[in-house]
Amino acid sequence: MSQESKIWLSSPHMGGEEQNFVKEAFDTNWIAPLGPNVTFFENDIAAYVKNDVSVAALSSGTAAIHLALEILGIKSGDEVLCQTFTFSASANPIKYLGATPVFVDSEKDTWNMSPKLLEEAIEDRIAKGVKPKAIVAVHLYGMPYKVTEINAIAEKYNIPVVEDSAEALGSTYNGVKCGGFGTVGILSFNGNKIITTSGGGALVTKDKAIKDRAVFLATQAREDAPHYQHNVVGYNYRMSNVLAGIGRGQMLVLDDRVAARRANYQYYYDNLHLIKELEFLNEPSGVFSNRWLSCILTPSFKIREKIRLALLNENIESRPLWKPMHAQPVFKDYASYMDGTSEDLFERGLCLPSGSNLEKKDLERIVRTIKSQFI
Ligand SMILES: *Cc1c(COP(=O)(O)O)cnc(C)c1O
Repeated sequence: MSQESKIWLSSPHMGGEEQNFVKEAFDTNWIAPLGPNVTFFENDIAAYVKNDVSVAALSSGTAAIHLALEILGIKSGDEVLCQTFTFSASANPIKYLGATPVFVDSEKDTWNMSPKLLEEAIEDRIAKGVKPKAIVAVHLYGMPYKVTEINAIAEKYNIPVVEDSAEALGSTYNGVKCGGFGTVGILSFNGNKIITTSGGGALVTKDKAIKDRAVFLATQAREDAPHYQHNVVGYNYRMSNVLAGIGRGQMLVLDDRVAARRANYQYYYDNLHLIKELEFLNEPSGVFSNRWLSCILTPSFKIREKIRLALLNENIESRPLWKPMHAQPVFKDYASYMDGTSEDLFERGLCLPSGSNLEKKDLERIVRTIKSQFI
């Protein structure tokens, strides 16, 4: 094992102002899941995403998906279509509500939900007598899904979309920021995301009533009364004012973080694309990816593992692409509409270190190690 310092896949990167906002929370004693940092952070995100969105800051991206589905009326026994090629947090909240996930495979252009398979799945579910109640689509690794096509299908069948933008803050589609395309969008500020509050998330929506409902449900569903009055089941999902202080500091450097991650991708591309065995995912026209994680496709599982283990031996963390949900033991019994794309990506794909705090010498070390596998 190399004695050189560890290179992480994606580690937190503070900007410098975060502690001032956190100190403000301490100085004013707003150590609670509400307070000025929460409001300012929500306003900062809304101003960044634009399009008149309202934002509810929450304890995690997973909580945001859970509330989004609940607010869209998902109940026990309902079916929800979900991109199979994703992190488990896109799908788990479907189960929290007692609903049934139905998985849809990806397309090669973006690695995200295939519009063709989505429509086939909807038609087939309707033919079987159950119309899906929602669609969870994901901008994976920061690459936007085909928003125009997915939204057109959602409108045709009148099915709401939960836009899982956990990995795509700062990405744009036809010049518009991701997060505001779905009926409800969600963001994550987990430690490995493009900006972080250590743990946290947000619900984003153009419908102010949905935001208000999210805040209501996230704060134990307390009705307006002098005593504690509850007419529905609530949750404790609001973001802490302390953590929102970190978020305010991170928003100041978000565009720098996007630029740094894109520069990582560009470095890998420039230095590795001539190796004919390796493939990169280009941005389709009209698309701007934050390149949250830089990924490569290798010719085979065997070569993918060879590269991964060579990196590990040099104390460099890398990770296979997401294992699709329909192939996970926990979800294997649910219906799925597949053409093999996500399973192929999982076999051959590798995420490379992508932190915005990587240094030139780190990138050089990574590229050197990968290149050494092709000599
Ligand atoms: C990180 C992530 C989530 C969940 O966000 P948390 O804040 O970690 O709960 C959901 N979906 C995707 C695609 C993610 O990458």
